Amino acid sequence: MNILAVLGSSFFRHLLQRHLGFLPQPPMFAASIAEAQVALNSKIDLVCLERHLPDGSGFDLARALRKHPETSRVPIILLTSSVDPEVCATSLEAGITEVFSKYELERLADYVEQRMRRNDATEKLIGKALLVEDSVPVARFIRSVLERLGLRVDTCPSGEQALESLEAKTYDIALIDVLLEGRMTGLNLVREIRRSEGRNTRVPILAMSALEDMARRIELLREGANDFLAKPMLEEELAARVRNMVQLKHLLDETEAQRDHMRRLAMTDQLTGLFNRHYLAEIASRRITEAGRHKIPVTMLMLDIDHFKNINDTHGHDIGDMVLAETAAVIKDCCREGDVAARTGGEEFVLLLINTVGERALAFAEDLRGRVEARRPGGIPVTVSVGVAETATGAPTTFEALFKAADDALYDAKETGRNRVVKVSL
Ligand code: GH3
Ligand code: MG
Ligand code: MG
Ligand code: MG
Repeated sequence: MNILAVLGSSFFRHLLQRHLGFLPQPPMFAASIAEAQVALNSKIDLVCLERHLPDGSGFDLARALRKHPETSRVPIILLTSSVDPEVCATSLEAGITEVFSKYELERLADYVEQRMRRNDATEKLIGKALLVEDSVPVARFIRSVLERLGLRVDTCPSGEQALESLEAKTYDIALIDVLLEGRMTGLNLVREIRRSEGRNTRVPILAMSALEDMARRIELLREGANDFLAKPMLEEELAARVRNMVQLKHLLDETEAQRDHMRRLAMTDQLTGLFNRHYLAEIASRRITEAGRHKIPVTMLMLDIDHFKNINDTHGHDIGDMVLAETAAVIKDCCREGDVAARTGGEEFVLLLINTVGERALAFAEDLRGRVEARRPGGIPVTVSVGVAETATGAPTTFEALFKAADDALYDAKETGRNRVVKVSL
């Protein structure tokens, strides 16, 4: 970051240098307006100046800097011994960005440091932008700005084509012109995006238009645009707004991913990757109610490893864990989409099947029992007993009723010799 400090007093130059000691390159100093003009030959990112300079007024210098193409948009900081309203008003009029007291140079240092960090605005963004713009030269200009920011850009001239792209890909920002080719306007498109339940329904939207129509702007924002940019647009403003919006989107994505991760952690059993008991009750209840509403029969299987205590005692806890994990893997293999499988206790598992009843349910349970036996989880002989409870008629039932019936059936299977399946109907 190149700072030009125009300060008449050598004492203040020295003081400022000390305060800005953290900069990778020290500020350039000029003791007068004439010296400042020479320094302007190099690239400047920020200017500090004071009100009274040996060869003229700091305000005049600020005005001149604002007219100079190289410095028309750099921040200009006034360092003054008194920050009063009159100084602030004149500063504003002269194009000065901030006013700091000469006696609070730490504040200036903070400002510079924060700007430097933000200036990592040179840091490339990662993501995809959708640019909906019918004017070819404008689209080319915006595209080049976005690409310089690091974004990959898809461009289309109409709302209709934009909707196709939005269906096919996920974007990190959409820039939407108001007047477009085709039948849709930008406003229609914004509305459509927000109403759809598609993957891009929450994409940040920057609306753009040359129309100075306030009512239309408000309408766009109401319909879900996040920001508005008037044309013709300044490259810096476009870049800054896009950067803010994309970074915010990434932050939200991150938060959401963390929440998803936490939720998954909260509902799964760590050893087997199956749902845990708590989550089973929640999801199975929902599925059972739903099935009952449509008169679809449901079946619950409760599966318990036989003499598991012996396995632990004979082979150790680690082999015991392996047996659990491999048995769970067999259960997972048997599941179809829509089935729910959970580990409900130490060596006890529950499976909920929708629309598999009667002989098919019995065959399913028998097959599962056989597969565990054939698998030899943990490299040792393992058998399971299975209790099956079903609502063969599709009559509504509850999770609790099914669970109790399956548990009773399992008890029967244990009582009658283990390594077998017992089925009951509700
Ligand atoms: P049954 O045939 O009647 O089911 O007899 P069992 O020995 O399988 O049943 P019991 O309920 O007597 O023993 C279950 C054992 O499972 C006792 C407990 O130490 C063990 N256990 C529970 N959770 C875990 C676990 O996470 N890892 C391991 N290795 N063992 C566990
Ligand atoms: Mg247009
Ligand atoms: Mg057991
Ligand atoms: Mg048990």
